[in-house]
Amino acid sequence: MVTTVFTNGRILCPGSWDGFVSTLVVEDDHVAHIGWDNDEAVVRIQATASIVDLMNRIVLPGFIDGHVHILNFGMSLEKLDLLPCKFLAYIRNAITSYAAAHPSDTRILCRGWIQSVTEGKALATALDDLDPRPIYIEALDLHSTWCNYAALEELGAHSKPDPPGGKIHRCLNGIPPSHIHEEKLVAINAAMDAHRRAGYTGVVDMAMGESEWNALNIYRDQRGELSMHVAAHWLVPYSKCEADICSHIDRAISLHQRFNRKTSPGFCINGIKLICDGTVDGCTAGLQQAYGGCSNIVDPIWPADSLAAAIRRATNAGPGLARLSSSQHLEITTSEDAKRLGQLGIMASVQSFHLDPANFGAWPEMLGTQRCKRAFAYQEFVDSGAHLAFGTDAPTAEHQALRNLYVATTRRSSIDPSSQNTVNSEFAVSLTTAVSAATAGLHMLLFQTRGQGVSFRDTRPISLC
Ligand SMILES: [Zn+2]
Repeated sequence: MVTTVFTNGRILCPGSWDGFVSTLVVEDDHVAHIGWDNDEAVVRIQATASIVDLMNRIVLPGFIDGHVHILNFGMSLEKLDLLPCKFLAYIRNAITSYAAAHPSDTRILCRGWIQSVTEGKALATALDDLDPRPIYIEALDLHSTWCNYAALEELGAHSKPDPPGGKIHRCLNGIPPSHIHEEKLVAINAAMDAHRRAGYTGVVDMAMGESEWNALNIYRDQRGELSMHVAAHWLVPYSKCEADICSHIDRAISLHQRFNRKTSPGFCINGIKLICDGTVDGCTAGLQQAYGGCSNIVDPIWPADSLAAAIRRATNAGPGLARLSSSQHLEITTSEDAKRLGQLGIMASVQSFHLDPANFGAWPEMLGTQRCKRAFAYQEFVDSGAHLAFGTDAPTAEHQALRNLYVATTRRSSIDPSSQNTVNSEFAVSLTTAVSAATAGLHMLLFQTRGQGVSFRDTRPISLC
């Protein structure tokens, strides 16, 4: 057995969130002890262990991204990022330069379009003179795609008033299957690499389907064990046909029986995902009052009885898939909602990138200033006893954990750090709450256990200068 004592550090870990400890003992790949140099467990082994001086650096458990779309994120890394473009003219310039630099691409694929930048308009004519190739621009929330005429024609959608949503596999259209296959594996590799470089040791894919699952399995077969833990929530789309819903849930149940925390801890199905509504930016989130300028109230996608039946089916299959409930996003809530999260033990899984003040500009008009005051009430969830967990929702936002913490704790913009604007700063969480929510707090989502007493392999620490 190889024993290493990491000493002279500032170590944050579950059980010591309120302050640093100095010393970490690692036996092979397990944390054996966390505490101080003069602890008996440290003194006893000090003569024979190898000693590493951390030189006062901060050590955290590895980050876990509690909400990501691995394949989509990997694919997005290859696309032109339009997030920095604040005006239509900048978008047009960026596309023109990108098109010139990529003469052999058959399509121009872009991401990160904030719909308010073009005042909610997505006109093909605003793109048609830029390049003869199809141009596809994904909205930041992935729920809309803006196309030029060539792209609409390629999709056969030119006669429809709205272009199809981001879920259509437009970039795969017409590419031979072997190419698609390789493209997905490259994308997964890019996504894993990007997350590892950002300090992550695990991710939770929050909408796993057959295509993503197949690609991940092939990738895993080729590479052996994945470079980080991957837990997935199987997407169960709403359908009016009950048998459709059941077939998705049953698929999740059977995969969970093979790939669960015990049989396959590094790569498992941990739950199902039900998309209950859309996004505030797209005016498709189901809210109790209508959006500004509208009289209709947007209903949730799932009728309550279908939702209850789906959850019952997953729960009846055994405790595995339903051990933990989490509610995603929680962008506009009442204080009663926060209380119910705490009372029912529902994890509040949130993505602070979504509250970035740079993306918040259109909200007051859509919701009214009073309702905006209730947006992203993270500290209220904590006060109500809810378990807080952070994710990034990449590729709808960037994947960097530290910038996610910055937004959660300051409520300022990571897109435009020079801006002093904040969004409801009274709901900011403390840095230790944020670190917990981005690391050990996510163990429940990743491993279905609390982050206490977990192995070193589960919490490979990262060090920050
Ligand atoms: Zn998502």
